[in-house]
Amino acid sequence: MNTDTYKEKLLSEKKKIEEELSTYAKGLRFRDGAGKEEDEEADEAEETATYLGLQEALHNKITHIKKALARIEEGVYGTCEKCGGEIGGAVLDAEPESSLCKSCKSL
Ligand SMILES: [Zn+2]
Repeated sequence: MNTDTYKEKLLSEKKKIEEELSTYAKGLRFRDGAGKEEDEEADEAEETATYLGLQEALHNKITHIKKALARIEEGVYGTCEKCGGEIGGAVLDAEPESSLCKSCKSL
């Protein structure tokens, strides 16, 4: 299996997410100002929660991407972690960090 294309995709995705994460980090720091109205603060607490949820999702994704990159290095990329079968190009094209084949994923 030629993993070069997937590796490239994963690396650019990883970079994009890292940039997004640093943007969020800056945004949160920026929000840490004093002297706000109470209503505003409530809104911001909610916004912060959304940010944190997003950050968590991005962290999860980056973990999957790093694992996928490690699997490329090990030469096991494209093999399902559960059943050991081929994950298949269609799944990998849509989600290059996927570690499960289509049928294991839908279980
Ligand atoms: Zn499987």
